Amino acid sequence: MNNCIFCKIASREIPSEVIAENEYFFAIKDISPLYKIHLLIIAKAHIATVSDIPADEMEHFSAAFDLAKKIAQKLDVVASGYRLTVNNGSDAGQEVPHFHMHFLAGEPLRKL
Ligand code: 5GP
Ligand code: ZN
Repeated sequence: MNNCIFCKIASREIPSEVIAENEYFFAIKDISPLYKIHLLIIAKAHIATVSDIPADEMEHFSAAFDLAKKIAQKLDVVASGYRLTVNNGSDAGQEVPHFHMHFLAGEPLRKL
């Protein structure tokens, strides 16, 4: 956890422009965007994957969708659409083992 890049961004040890935030999550631009709009909605607490969310904290994770909803409104992509993706573990290609949701939008996305 000490060496976790997203913990360092969450604690402001590494400065980053925060696009939006709430009690449990904050959003920043992905450093290597795959689409015109590529944000990361990152948990403020260090939780590696969905499988690591403690039962008594699960309800906090609706705040990730609440932030996504607000970002979609702010960036005016509600009508055009957006994708929310969470990678968990190696087969999913998760690079940073700290829960985050990709917010992808701004152009047609490759179909999953
Ligand atoms: P994952 O593959 O774990 O779902 O996604 C990790 C994402 O974090 C990647 O899209 C990668 O480009 C992004 N990323 C990695 N390090 C940094 C960083 O230091 N700052 C920002 N803004 N994004 C990062
Ligand atoms: Zn972390």
